[in-house]
Amino acid sequence: MPIKENLAELKILLPPQVTLVAVSKTYPEADILQAYQAGQRIFGENRPQELVAKKALLPADIQWHMIGNLQTNKVRSLVPFVSLIHSVDSEKLLEVIDREAERYDRVIDVLLEVHIAREQSKHGWSEDDLLHYLAQASYPTLTHVRLRGLMGVASYTDDQAVVQAEFEGLAALHKLLHERFFGPDFDTLSMGMSGDFPLAIRCGSTMVRVGSSIFGARTYNK
Ligand SMILES: *Cc1c(COP(=O)(O)O)cnc(C)c1O
Repeated sequence: MPIKENLAELKILLPPQVTLVAVSKTYPEADILQAYQAGQRIFGENRPQELVAKKALLPADIQWHMIGNLQTNKVRSLVPFVSLIHSVDSEKLLEVIDREAERYDRVIDVLLEVHIAREQSKHGWSEDDLLHYLAQASYPTLTHVRLRGLMGVASYTDDQAVVQAEFEGLAALHKLLHERFFGPDFDTLSMGMSGDFPLAIRCGSTMVRVGSSIFGARTYNK
């Protein structure tokens, strides 16, 4: 697979304000290293164990993002080094990250994952639950997490109108929360994958998570 060429083609499509997370789940270290040698520094994984194992084998200046469902008992393994957690979907998880980060004297950047897709299996806060949680405002007492924005995964469908409505909804929520609850630090909107990132960018995404367009089709599904 011509990873270097794929990356170069992808970069042409990304406006300068959009950050690229290269989603390397299921791909071997050699592939990640190829992307690294082509200049990519931010990689995303969706399984803590796989993330920790790859981190140990790859260059130290890689910024690792956790993009998948995270159980509280796996937080400790990531906290020493993870650079952004996209998938915070509960108050409990936020509190555990805060507590573990304190032990390591770190402040960890996190995104709140919002459920925007029609599929039930996808994780995340409902808009109502998130607004309710933020309105009761226990999060300002968390000193070792920094809420940087929102993340969402759109429905898996060819219907562009559905995907567009989901992205626009998430962008509107991001704007609302930014104005109502947060300051300029709440600047990240993580939406868009290989199949839908151009649309996500048109809807205001600032961070895209792209795997198969860089590394090729996955041989098994995770
Ligand atoms: C796998 C994954 C991606 C990347 O998917 P591609 O279709 O390979 O680009 C993005 N976001 C999340 C949460 C994922 O699990």
